Amino acid sequence: MNIHEYQGKEILRQYGVAVPDGKVAFSPDEAVKVAKELGSNVIVVKAQIHAGGRGKAGGVKIAKNLDEVRAYAKELLGKILVTHQTGPEGKEVKRLYIEEGSDIKKEYYLSFIVDRATSRVTLMGSEEGGMDIEEVAERTPEKIFKEVIDPLTGLLPFQARRMAFNMNIPTKLVNKAAKLMLGLYEAFVEKDASILEINPLVVTGNDEVVALDAKFNFDSNGLYRHKDIVELRDYDEEDAKEIEASKYDLSYISLDGNIGCMVNGAGLAMATMDTISYYGGRPANFLDVGGGATAEKVTEAFKIILSDTNVKGIFVNIFGGIMKCDVIAEGVIAAAKEVGLEVPLVVRLEGTNVELGKELLNASGLNIVAADSMADGAEKIVELVG
Ligand code: ADP
Ligand code: MG
Repeated sequence: MNIHEYQGKEILRQYGVAVPDGKVAFSPDEAVKVAKELGSNVIVVKAQIHAGGRGKAGGVKIAKNLDEVRAYAKELLGKILVTHQTGPEGKEVKRLYIEEGSDIKKEYYLSFIVDRATSRVTLMGSEEGGMDIEEVAERTPEKIFKEVIDPLTGLLPFQARRMAFNMNIPTKLVNKAAKLMLGLYEAFVEKDASILEINPLVVTGNDEVVALDAKFNFDSNGLYRHKDIVELRDYDEEDAKEIEASKYDLSYISLDGNIGCMVNGAGLAMATMDTISYYGGRPANFLDVGGGATAEKVTEAFKIILSDTNVKGIFVNIFGGIMKCDVIAEGVIAAAKEVGLEVPLVVRLEGTNVELGKELLNASGLNIVAADSMADGAEKIVELVG
């Protein structure tokens, strides 16, 4: 789960991490009111969307007086911001963060991630901050430093200092930077984050070390014990189909193809997507209905697929183990009756109660193409979609 920059900074304040003063605003009037309260000479108006790259896309404005704050707030609210992380359709700006301007001397990069290779939280840092870190990683990987953190000891002060030295933070500020890193680590672990990225971390004209941006990503498996984080969820920023799917505890991810997939088991879902791609098609989604899905859950899953206007055909690929094929058939039939089925449907059923499932589908009067295997089904749906 993602949150906005201003929410992330609010969390960081609780951990003693230095961030500029600021507040969220939903209208130009509110933006001016917040700017007045801040009373700073330079005010930064920042678009709040769940995507980075706002600076380059014109989503971060530096205002020198209240009139400029109002003008920038008007310009940004309601604007569709297209950054390299939003995709070409962009994201509408509905909230602004009004923040005091920092006197930036230098921008650095800092992040905590869960490294799958070492199964450890890893601190990464670089003196090349503020720009695309992917580019730094590609062109000058030697400028990115790592500290692998032992979960038993946590981030040790000497590791944080070593990172600060590696990042070429001015010597007199190394301890300040290290303290900030320890605060970030504490926030990361206590909140069950999966990513915490500070890009840029800055050193200011009066020798402060400040987190100027904050990107948090939380492990959804840990959310049950963080009611405060769950409350920060902004449904406007999420895919409507994914929200619907999460209500029914379905693993669903929207993709940009046109073949809807309904599969049980994450591994089979991945294999199905690969097989569709192999035959030249493009999946519209990843969907794992899980092992013990009820007919109602399957119905909802099928309805979510049908609600996607990009979907030009559907491939149901079920290997019935715990999941029973007749339950899948019932769900598919119920959903198709409720919302209508206007696109081709290929079904491949195998396993528990397969005969019963096939009988139900045959008797349903739905226009279904039966497939004998995963490859056969993928080939058929790709052909039908054209
Ligand atoms: P994004 O990563 O989405 O582009 P950032 O929050 O990193 O957004 O802001 C982009 C750039 O804008 C920063 O690298 C920094 O140069 C400038 N900036 C952001 N916030 C401030 C601030 N409070 N004061 C001065 N400059 C800022
Ligand atoms: Mg940034």
